[in-house]
Amino acid sequence: MTIELGPVGFFYHPVFLQHDTGAGHPERPQRLEAILTHLAATTLWSRLQVRVPTPVDPAFVELVHPRTYVSLIERACREGPTALDPDTIASPGSWEAALRAVGAVTTAIDQLLDGSLNAAFCAVRPPGHHALADRAMGFCLFNNVAIGARYAQRRHHLARILIVDWDVHHGNGTQAIFYDDPSVFYFSTHQFPFYPGTGARQEIGRGAAVGWTLNVPLPQGSGDAELIRAFQEELVPKALTFAPELVLISAGFDAHRDDPLAGLAATEAGYAELTRIVRGIADRSCRGRIVSVLEGGYDLHALGASVEAHLRVLLSDE
Ligand SMILES: [Zn+2]
Repeated sequence: MTIELGPVGFFYHPVFLQHDTGAGHPERPQRLEAILTHLAATTLWSRLQVRVPTPVDPAFVELVHPRTYVSLIERACREGPTALDPDTIASPGSWEAALRAVGAVTTAIDQLLDGSLNAAFCAVRPPGHHALADRAMGFCLFNNVAIGARYAQRRHHLARILIVDWDVHHGNGTQAIFYDDPSVFYFSTHQFPFYPGTGARQEIGRGAAVGWTLNVPLPQGSGDAELIRAFQEELVPKALTFAPELVLISAGFDAHRDDPLAGLAATEAGYAELTRIVRGIADRSCRGRIVSVLEGGYDLHALGASVEAHLRVLLSDE
């Protein structure tokens, strides 16, 4: 069966470069510049629908984060640079960047649901998946993907959201936020044991949500074959049973073999195949609706090339 493809959105705003993490920090503005420079030199750039995200209404941020926390982050940014933990910096430019990063996800969801886009990639900073409801950590201020899931449920009345997290680090924040919520299926592959320490096999959700957290921890050195097997054998059957109405990807590219922060061995071809598998789920469950959101990825060349491979599959042009 041939799936009729709609346009693919690329959400970016230059304010993401104003999130200043300080000299020598791996999560730096050059990451996004590397993605843009790389994509602009490819044939796929002209086929992407480049969209400018508006800042999210902070009321939607409060679907996940308590108002006191949102206020704390705003203050930390305005008075910054402020170290929220040793690695997590809020700078004066971070406030608008953070609101537009969430806004990229919510705008993308709006445009998928109104039919103007079929899929979207959000090239955002700061990343989100380590942010807990009431605590910034691991370079993350607001949990972009978690807010996106809640937004899709509240604004668009979607019942079931699948979050696929292939960042090399476990998305402890996203897991915690949905740990007892059977309406959101959280699936993660990650190096283990590794930062942030969570993501063991036994962490499977709580109460009515038991089974709707699925962690596949991978030992250092694992690569494409182990990742693809986890997706095919563990994610696919469970996701098709779940039948999501929207798929969100926490798309970190730091499981790449060239990444300086971690020890997995994925390649661009591996990211293409993971994307193909997730697309298969989305095509069968929800007319291909995927919003992919950048998380980590710290080798600039590997990041650009991996995002290209990912987008080629979303555009179905391989
Ligand atoms: Zn990461």
